[in-house]
Amino acid sequence: MRCEVIAVGTELLLGQIVDTNSSWIGEQLALAGVDSHFQTKVGDNVERIASVLRIALDRSDAVIVCGGLGPTHDDVTREAIAEVMGVGLVRDASVVARIEAMFSARGRRMPDNNLRQADIPEGAAAIDHPQPGTAPGLVCPIAWPGGGEGDEGASGPGGAGERTVDKVVYAVPGVPHEMRAIVEQVIVPDLRRRAGDTSVILSRTLRTWGESESGLAERLAERIRQLDEIGNPTLAFLASGVEGLKVRVTAKGPDEASCKEVLGHEELVLRALLGDLVFGVDDETMEIAVGALLDANRLSLGLAESVTGGLVGARLTAAPGASAWFRGSIVSYASEVKFDLLDVPEGPVVTAEAAEAMAAGARRVLDADVGLSVTGVAGPAAQDGEEPGTVYVGLALGDQVESVRLRLPGDRERVRQFACISALDVLRHRLSGSSRGGHLGERTKA
Ligand code: ATP
Ligand code: MG
Repeated sequence: MRCEVIAVGTELLLGQIVDTNSSWIGEQLALAGVDSHFQTKVGDNVERIASVLRIALDRSDAVIVCGGLGPTHDDVTREAIAEVMGVGLVRDASVVARIEAMFSARGRRMPDNNLRQADIPEGAAAIDHPQPGTAPGLVCPIAWPGGGEGDEGASGPGGAGERTVDKVVYAVPGVPHEMRAIVEQVIVPDLRRRAGDTSVILSRTLRTWGESESGLAERLAERIRQLDEIGNPTLAFLASGVEGLKVRVTAKGPDEASCKEVLGHEELVLRALLGDLVFGVDDETMEIAVGALLDANRLSLGLAESVTGGLVGARLTAAPGASAWFRGSIVSYASEVKFDLLDVPEGPVVTAEAAEAMAAGARRVLDADVGLSVTGVAGPAAQDGEEPGTVYVGLALGDQVESVRLRLPGDRERVRQFACISALDVLRHRLSGSSRGGHLGERTKA
């Protein structure tokens, strides 16, 4: 099964937006075992979209077109597909009903041009999908001239007597979350069914923090080599910025149960190699992981934030049930607030002593079991003789107070974001009893 991708949008050609849709779709196709040899970008123009569609249909079994499905006059993907199919557009009553229901649910009047989205190529089917948004996806079956491999240049629906092959064009909206829902839930399963593939594919993602991508690859090198030989499951690294590095395991098997068994076994193997770098699985974020540890130990947490200005508190309150363990955050940005409110000794405030005093102060003032603090230099200028990227995290647990000095990469915003997850990671290590030695030492993030 060969499937290629066409991204529609003049903004893509002008460099105003980056075509992340194609790369994401490419990844999904590869995971599903569907060959994808070409990706094309084309502007919002009926003739040019039709032309690249014909080229794609000549050399692939299926095509996914993304973008240009909206209600405005420059959204012309529907027209281009109809032209290639050699049919007209017909108004689809179920799509009309869906769009009307969507508008009335929001208590808004539906602009007439929204009905354009219900005009779909004759013979096509609208894809019903759970994501909100008005653009429906389309499945368009096409009988395409040619007898199989290598029929380059046929370019058009079959005339009388010509041999044709059943091919398919899928159209999905350009908006990434709508596109992803349809590709994942409808298109990939449909492609695999067409390819006669009845196996099941499942993946599980281990989230890590505290090691660089090359460091992770080094730890896993031997296992990756073994899996290359075995062929199942497969591993992929996903760098996710301030969410850390993810290691995704994908298993293929005859049914869900056998995939889960493979995933469960592989998770154990990887955890043994990665140790406490792993903080969560799948949707389990750092804040959820930390919250679970606090909850399990029946501890409450209070924060004193300087360089992060409340980001740590914002992340923690994103975890459901945070009220069970989160007391609050003191954004002690000005030095005087640190001195007056938190009893930090007067003097420089980007130091281990200041971080420790802030943590102890937060614990006391907020009446929490654990105090966590962050102070540092986000840049661009140095402060207290420390370079941008220098961050101290303080931790007060009972009478024990300690701190760690971090060197974080990037510009001001990245330093602040990295400081946030790093501070939570320091707390995670302490609560899970996995920090090495009495004090937390110095860590450098590559
Ligand atoms: P809409 O109903 O929103 O008009 P549409 O199917 O017409 O949907 P487009 O107008 O092409 O989609 O794109 C809508 C938005 O989706 C774009 O402004 C852009 O932000 C995003 N987008 C479109 N194509 C891509 C792409 N290939 N990669 C990443 N983002 C994209
Ligand atoms: Mg649009």
